[in-house]
Amino acid sequence: MMRRARLTIDAAALRHNLGVARRAAGPRRIFAAIKADGYGHGMQTAASAFAAAGAEGFAVATPGEALALRGAGFDQRLLVLQGALDAEEMELAIEHSLDLVFHDLAQIRELGRWCANRGRGASRGHFRAWLKLDTGMHRAGLMPAMIEEARARLENCPAVADRVGLMTHFARADEPDPADTRAQIDRFAGVATGWNGETSLCNSAALLGHDAGGDWVRPGIMLYGGNPFIFGQAADRDLRAGMHLRTVLVAVREVPRGGSIGYGGRFIAPERMAVGIAAVGYGDGYPRHAPDGTPIRVNGQTTRIIGRVSMDMVTVDLRGIEARVGDEVECWGDGLPIDSVARSAGTISYELMCRMGSELRAEARVINA
Ligand SMILES: *Cc1c(COP(=O)(O)O)cnc(C)c1O
Repeated sequence: MMRRARLTIDAAALRHNLGVARRAAGPRRIFAAIKADGYGHGMQTAASAFAAAGAEGFAVATPGEALALRGAGFDQRLLVLQGALDAEEMELAIEHSLDLVFHDLAQIRELGRWCANRGRGASRGHFRAWLKLDTGMHRAGLMPAMIEEARARLENCPAVADRVGLMTHFARADEPDPADTRAQIDRFAGVATGWNGETSLCNSAALLGHDAGGDWVRPGIMLYGGNPFIFGQAADRDLRAGMHLRTVLVAVREVPRGGSIGYGGRFIAPERMAVGIAAVGYGDGYPRHAPDGTPIRVNGQTTRIIGRVSMDMVTVDLRGIEARVGDEVECWGDGLPIDSVARSAGTISYELMCRMGSELRAEARVINA
């Protein structure tokens, strides 16, 4: 059977990128962000590669993701970014030694109720807690004025380990103007001075682009080879593609001059021209909003898509390209940065990585493991 759209994950590239983060982090420790199924690369595949390259911990969104990692045998620190929502999740945090982020007053109230109700029979263990400080992003996080009281309430609970951590997240570290990030760093420092627990500030863009400090960094996109900035290219930072989306041509044909191609007739052939049909579409996670001109490679030569993306097909401009049925098509990977496709489609590499179809993901091939 001829292989069609397929996903290849390059574990060596993931390890290499962790090394890039390591050099930028210096003495700081690394929580490698592997939420959303390792940004679509497979959580275990990603975790194994980053652990092999020396990541001291992982950042996940939910306790469920953390449990899956523990179940797979990972014993690194696990930072649960959304924290716990109820008593059961707090008990699990003790049982599995999780680091829980508290970013909202409701979580701190829930902790208080849980702690008061646990009684004497409860396990004597504890979990590590982090407070998330809102330094200006105004998404998740507690305002600076609330931090002291929040810390006191966490420290009052015997199930919370000593030395609560303090973290924040940047809204605009990916932009060329550093002013807003600088202001967030300063606000963080205003609270963190004299703090006795661990601290963490940086996502990928802040790690590579700003001098923000902290004890731990939390890179994500750069580890997968995505460009963390809205300018430049991942290769400028010595990052390598972790994900390769490839398929084959299932048809090669001619379209007459003036012929319109695909749904809605979006592209009209300006001349009699060769067109290829590549077996990949939005059902696989290829972005449906990709306009005419979005780059794609056929037999190692960069060309462009023409006509609307269908569920399992895209049409490709083959003018000037030798190609036959069965020939290789690269949607993104080593030869074509995922960021180029994302930019053309009006999105970011994060989204393309995360929304790869479940079938492709289940059958992803891991190379250089
Ligand atoms: C996802 C996430 C990260 C990683 O961000 P990248 O931009 O992918 O490096 C870091 N911190 C938090 C809180 C996150 O949610």
